[in-house]
Amino acid sequence: MVSTHRLPPPPSALRGRIVVAAVAVGAFAAAGAGQTLQAVGSDTSASDEVTPLANASEGAAAFGIGGTAPAAAPKVLPVAKLVDPSAEVSKLAKSQQITEKREADEIEAKRPKVVRPAPGIFTSGYGGRWGEMHYGIDIAGPIGDPIYAAADGVVIEAGPASGFGLWVRIEHADGTVTVYGHMNTFSVQKGQKVTAGEKIAEVGNRGFSTGPHLHFEVWNASGMKINPLPWLNERGVTL
Ligand SMILES: [Zn+2]
Repeated sequence: MVSTHRLPPPPSALRGRIVVAAVAVGAFAAAGAGQTLQAVGSDTSASDEVTPLANASEGAAAFGIGGTAPAAAPKVLPVAKLVDPSAEVSKLAKSQQITEKREADEIEAKRPKVVRPAPGIFTSGYGGRWGEMHYGIDIAGPIGDPIYAAADGVVIEAGPASGFGLWVRIEHADGTVTVYGHMNTFSVQKGQKVTAGEKIAEVGNRGFSTGPHLHFEVWNASGMKINPLPWLNERGVTL
């Protein structure tokens, strides 16, 4: 292939493809293609260069490749794509996106869906207490201890509430609502999406409370205040 290095650099994508075609055809029939390659190599204007190989399938047929199918142009295009750096970059970016998506999915799958709502000590259960019904459980801890969203959900209320001092209520996908009371401060607002384990407040001693603790309730989809302990246990959380 003496003559190939004489080919001028392609000034455009179109000419690039034509040159690739010329080289491909020439490679199969270097001796026979001498005239053609010379014509491509020696001409200087783009329009003249195109002429000898304008019908690439004709050229291929003449040198006995490509058979009778007029498929020379589709054959050339993949070659042009392979050497297109922007296509390669795009492919790499796509591959990177797929990898990141898979990693995110794995992290999401491993993430706990229900968590202990506070780190303190379980001090009081659900049920009758001091002649009154206690509709939640208490987890005692020093003022400032973190309070976490027990599960993914949306904050439907955050603010003052009778008896609770302050409360936060979070609605979950199945309609269950978790309630957090007596907190010293809270850091979420109505409408905010939260994930399980996200800090939403700090333990306090507000409302009808005899010492700093989290009062935690679970309301089922019908609005019934159910025992939070089995609800947590069934979801892998023990106190
Ligand atoms: Zn309580």
